[in-house]
Amino acid sequence: MLNNEKDFSDQYREKVKKFKPWGILIFVDFVLIIVGLPFAYFVLSLNSTGILIYLVLCAILLLVCVPFLITTLKCPNCGKFMGRDIGKYCPLCGVKIRK
Ligand SMILES: [Zn+2]
Repeated sequence: MLNNEKDFSDQYREKVKKFKPWGILIFVDFVLIIVGLPFAYFVLSLNSTGILIYLVLCAILLLVCVPFLITTLKCPNCGKFMGRDIGKYCPLCGVKIRK
């Protein structure tokens, strides 16, 4: 049986579903850095220590999410990192990951 006849799309969908809240958190984190930082600086007039703490907190939040992102981008069959743009099939082993 060829690898491209194996269907991992259901398993992969479950994986993506589990990742969804973390994906939202990553998005929120970017918003916090891009929008929240000028806001913290100009509106709340935080000093440099405050800004530093703010940035560290954002970085920690992002670091917490990254392992989940990496796991989601790994193939359910071969376990290899598939890259950021995932198509219908795993580029490395050829199994179907999306319907
Ligand atoms: Zn694979």
